[in-house]
Amino acid sequence: DQALHVEDLTVSYGATPALWDIDLDIPPGVMCAIVGPNGAGKSTLLKAALGLVRPVAGHVRFLGRPVAQMRGQIGYVPQRHSVDWDFPTTVRDVVEMGLYRHIGWLRRPGKAAHARAMAALAEMGMQDYADRQISQLSGGQQQRVFIARALVQDAPILVLDEPMAGVDASTEAVIIALLKRLRDEGRTIIVVHHDLTTVQSYFDWLVMLNIRIIAQGPVNDVYTAQN
Ligand code: ADP
Ligand code: ADP
Repeated sequence: DQALHVEDLTVSYGATPALWDIDLDIPPGVMCAIVGPNGAGKSTLLKAALGLVRPVAGHVRFLGRPVAQMRGQIGYVPQRHSVDWDFPTTVRDVVEMGLYRHIGWLRRPGKAAHARAMAALAEMGMQDYADRQISQLSGGQQQRVFIARALVQDAPILVLDEPMAGVDASTEAVIIALLKRLRDEGRTIIVVHHDLTTVQSYFDWLVMLNIRIIAQGPVNDVYTAQN
């Protein structure tokens, strides 16, 4: 089965379609970039695939199954946006939220959950911030915490919406190295990425999107066909 299989997907927020008749296959075990201009529907594609946006038409499968049967098996890092944390929330709390599908909302996280959260934070070099308030971190630091929240589930599929946006060069290098290692472990990594010029160096699968699919396939094949 494909890691992600999308058929005849059309999404519209109003009169004009944000995505038009998308057919897409992403094989398991690749690091895939979804690239396109602003407003191309990249975030919408991720949200529709994850069942967070209702399509007009279409059909989505992850590893052959509907997303509703993939509980805890897809780690998702939404596009960065300013969140108002209107009650005290530590960095560790945020990461443990990623485990709610495993432990349930109503149970307090135990020692095992704490240990998993700390390990995920350490992956992102954020272990020393565990007891800080999330609201006190910089945008780039918050982004690392959200990636840790997606990692803590140990999911076979990771979906990240512009994870490199607004982070400094050294954090970008940490994120890329981490994503490569997760891919090498056999996971499928799907990343919305703004910069077509850098994808060739570390992605192995490329989807070019602009409301419709422009091209998709192994990154070098798509590159050769486009140039
Ligand atoms: P991208 O991620 O490629 O920049 P988006 O998926 O965010 O594109 O948006 C695709 C189009 O849908 C844009 O024209 C955007 O303005 C519109 N759009 C996105 N989200 C909403 C929404 N919640 N309500 C109405 N229009 C939206
Ligand atoms: P927004 O409306 O701000 O764009 P989304 O609708 O994309 O946010 O997501 C709502 C929340 O649900 C986010 O905090 C996101 O992290 C969480 N979420 C959605 N799907 C998943 C998933 N598969 N795994 C983990 N968290 C998820």
